[in-house]
Amino acid sequence: MDLEKIKEQLKNEPSFRYKQAFQAIFVNLCVNWDEVSGFPKALREKLNKKLPLDLLVLNSENQTGSEKVAINFQGDVVEAVLMKHSRRNTVCVSSQVGCALKCDFCATGELGYKRNLTAMEIVAQVLYFARILKKKNQKVSNVVFMGMGEPLKNYDEVMAAVRILNDKDGLNIGARKISISTVGIISGIKKLSKENLQVNLAVSLHAANNDLRNEIMPINKNFPLKNLLSSIKEYMKLTNRKVMIEYVMLNEVNDSEKQAKELVDVLKTFLPQLFSVNLIAYNETGKYKPSTAARSRKFKHVLERSGISVIERYRFGGDIKAACGQLAGVYKK
Ligand code: SAH
Repeated sequence: MDLEKIKEQLKNEPSFRYKQAFQAIFVNLCVNWDEVSGFPKALREKLNKKLPLDLLVLNSENQTGSEKVAINFQGDVVEAVLMKHSRRNTVCVSSQVGCALKCDFCATGELGYKRNLTAMEIVAQVLYFARILKKKNQKVSNVVFMGMGEPLKNYDEVMAAVRILNDKDGLNIGARKISISTVGIISGIKKLSKENLQVNLAVSLHAANNDLRNEIMPINKNFPLKNLLSSIKEYMKLTNRKVMIEYVMLNEVNDSEKQAKELVDVLKTFLPQLFSVNLIAYNETGKYKPSTAARSRKFKHVLERSGISVIERYRFGGDIKAACGQLAGVYKK
């Protein structure tokens, strides 16, 4: 599925055909061109052959509250997750095949980097779940770029995907319902601040100390903590939007009360307007252990006493390895 290729295939057709095709894919969520009754039979047959709408799904796993799928894009397998809350259906998408950043605690990093996904490959992950939800008269309400890969290292395709997801004549997912999570690629954050898009930015901080951050997130050596924090401050000033700070709780690594105070100091100094931090429960993938309940509680109290509100993200989909940073994919050839 590739919109450019669809355009190309339709170039000898009346111009309204492209609009119909777009609607068939993103509004009617067709899985086969035969469902597009407005198209002549010969055209449907040609499109089914050249640009089939079905997705090559290798595996899908279900658990109350979340569902994971592995999709094969021309031999490369990526995973996406649907997380069901009471009123929300959030799809967590991958932006790259593998990841080059090698954060020490993340399973995707271990795979290494293979390639960027195209905008349509990113959108296809959302389509997969939109099609399933349609059968229950439900829709995808939110999209988070928190699957495999670093979205700001695949900037153009990620932005193109956001615009397709956001298209009023398509899936119509509001920009405010779309979140991009980054390790803190400063150039990308700068670019994003000029997009005039209401998407949410989340930054994976995970340490408020430059040495520790160097250790657990090697990318910090390219974008030192202070520079990153300044760029977030600038982003907030330019866009007038809040930024979500993510902090994964690694037992006896970054979760002491002293480190919580350090986090408070750093935030108060650099980001005084910011008032919430997302504490992420760690899903074990090897080297590290999740913080104990007692350590997490103490850490959280230090933040809250300083007026920083805390949002806790639990091990969503932990049982089917569908939680953040666990989408390593066992399908590597
Ligand atoms: N590259 C982006 C987005 C992908 S991961 C980023 O780093 O932000 C989304 C979030 O999950 C990040 O905050 C990441 O650090 C975190 N994460 C990675 N591995 C994890 C794990 N095993 N358990 C919990 N969170 C994890």
